[in-house]
Amino acid sequence: MVNANYEYTQHLMGTTVSLMLLEPNETAVQSVFETIKILEYKLTVNRPLSEVMSINLAAGQHPVTVSRPVFSLIEQAQKVSLHFNSCFNLAIGPLVKLWKIGFQGDQVPSVKLIKQQLLLTDPKNIELDANKHTVFLKKTGMEIDLGAIAKGYIADVIKSILLQYQVYKGIINLGGNVFALGSSLTDDNGYWHIGLRKPFSTDDKLSGVIKVINKSVVTSGIYERFFIQNGHLYHHIFDPQTGYPLDNELESVTVISDSSLEGDIYSTVFYGWGLDKSREYLQKHPNLSAIFLLKNKTIALVNPNNFIFQKSDKQYTIKLN
Ligand code: ADP
Ligand code: MG
Repeated sequence: MVNANYEYTQHLMGTTVSLMLLEPNETAVQSVFETIKILEYKLTVNRPLSEVMSINLAAGQHPVTVSRPVFSLIEQAQKVSLHFNSCFNLAIGPLVKLWKIGFQGDQVPSVKLIKQQLLLTDPKNIELDANKHTVFLKKTGMEIDLGAIAKGYIADVIKSILLQYQVYKGIINLGGNVFALGSSLTDDNGYWHIGLRKPFSTDDKLSGVIKVINKSVVTSGIYERFFIQNGHLYHHIFDPQTGYPLDNELESVTVISDSSLEGDIYSTVFYGWGLDKSREYLQKHPNLSAIFLLKNKTIALVNPNNFIFQKSDKQYTIKLN
């Protein structure tokens, strides 16, 4: 990750959040960190209390009134889930809780339990009332989980806060979820240089550097949170149809886009679709770009008009489109 002069970090949302600015700006930075704390407090399911938790705790009982941003994010996530129902599902919570991937006690659950939990993940059973801002989970045991999009949403909010404070250049890094704001002054052509981690490398090696101007760069990978049991790797992105972690040819997907929420949605969706289907979709959506790292050590760059990728690892070979 490169070259802005002033770096501010805090441990939030289970990761290291960092802001890199060209000039010091304590007021803007304070406002950003405060906002992240407030939003995390509303959206998290990793603490006993939050707005999303109060919806989950009232499942099967009654609707819960939530704040405007939470309602709007749930509304969008439900739309996406109904549209891309084969791989994205905001009602995936019961499975996330069952597998506990990345948390203490993670293990492969019994087929019976997986089947039971699957019955509680139908996004159609989330009832929204746009007038009252209420959310109702119709079945007891249902749980909303916004883990696949919360950071993307928050990155966009941070971007708008920085712009309000007239900060037009910098890097917002929410641990795998980066927004490169404006252009860089250290690269002759204004590109920000963003490192793409080499999957499973223990010493933070990079597979390459992504160069962008004013873009969100979001990565979903199987190497972020996983466990190995009987030689099989189980990671944290689930197939909503089977209840098991998605199993395909990909190690990671990076989406380059204007909105980080969109990037976060598509990094999960593309991971679920795999390379061929995602490429077909991307060819019809030229504003979105993606970098796919495959288990066979090839790197596929799709719509490389919005970024430059400079490979830095000999093990991988690049395939264009
Ligand atoms: P991260 O930045 O943590 O890697 P991702 O954007 O890759 O997050 O999303 C993974 C998280 O999303 C999981 O930890 C879980 O909370 C949730 N999740 C897992 N599978 C799905 C799915 N199929 N659809 C929506 N959310 C999911
Ligand atoms: Mg995502």
